[in-house]
Amino acid sequence: MNEFALIKRYFERSDDDKSDHGGAVVQAPAQGVVQGIGDDCAVLSTDPDYETVISTDTLISGVHFPENSDSRLIAQRALRVNLSDIAAMGGQPSAFLLALTLPELNETWLEGFSRGLREVSDTYSCPLVGGDTTRGPLSITISILGTVPRGRALFRSGAQVGDTIYVTGYLGDGAAGLGLLDVPIQGDGSEARSVDYLQKRYWQPDPRVSEGLILRDYASAAIDISDGLLADLGHILRASCVGAELTMASIPLSAPLIDTGTKKEAITLALTGGDDYELCFTVPIDKVAMLELKVREGLLSAFRIGEISAKEGLICRDGSGTVVDFSDAGYQHF
Ligand code: ADP
Ligand code: MG
Repeated sequence: MNEFALIKRYFERSDDDKSDHGGAVVQAPAQGVVQGIGDDCAVLSTDPDYETVISTDTLISGVHFPENSDSRLIAQRALRVNLSDIAAMGGQPSAFLLALTLPELNETWLEGFSRGLREVSDTYSCPLVGGDTTRGPLSITISILGTVPRGRALFRSGAQVGDTIYVTGYLGDGAAGLGLLDVPIQGDGSEARSVDYLQKRYWQPDPRVSEGLILRDYASAAIDISDGLLADLGHILRASCVGAELTMASIPLSAPLIDTGTKKEAITLALTGGDDYELCFTVPIDKVAMLELKVREGLLSAFRIGEISAKEGLICRDGSGTVVDFSDAGYQHF
């Protein structure tokens, strides 16, 4: 099989293969793709009332996921983390490109990879519209596009003193799952279920796309948590020239995370571990009541964890109000 046959076989979609998998929610294909895979460029139509949000992420074997991992899971994670960037901007995903570097033409691997990609692509109505295929050490680069109504994108720079800080879900699960990837799931006891849940949270993070769309009406700033809450909230604080106080007891922790270690380990992973892909966002005081109504109505998942302050820096307080030091804040790439 040559490069072109490979692309056609694994990445081009005909209209009748759009629902060949069980489980995932299959929605109508995204609007606006004039030309997908097969020409020199993809062509997307643009609406003058919208802006394009665009982002790219690379996953390298042995660095961002263990070598010999299940290719279906690699694909799912690669697309999900890219969708998370669109979610953090309040964007609606439109389409993505895939630059794939493969050490060899392994059909079993490609079968799993393209299936994983399709499952996520269908769930989020975000079609693959082009890419590049080369030979070399395994690496996956996805570039993703989305849209927001003009002037409505969520930035890191909008937080104001007095804003309430929220996260959309449990923190620490992704980092815990990464630490447990080699642990086999044996039986269906509570320990096995916890490990299974945490591994899934690493491989299949939930990009908070629907939350991002709602947050356009409420949030003053937003970011997705890829490197740990302290590191990523730190980006909001620097971009917005403000500080923050966090209440550690309010940080949402999942039962499986607490079950697999001590409470202290859980909170440390929640604050400094990465790979959660929940959103962290800030809400001005006059919008807090409306936002919390949405939460009670079940339209949005959000946990209040602290407040934006004028004093520079990030302060964490424990239950008794004592300041706790977490100097090792988040994952550093170099
Ligand atoms: P070109 O030489 O013009 O860059 P290519 O021969 O690299 O085009 O690719 C042919 C077509 O297949 C293009 O539309 C390209 O976007 C698409 N393509 C290549 N690799 C992939 C891939 N891994 N996934 C999806 N589309 C791909
Ligand atoms: Mg090319």
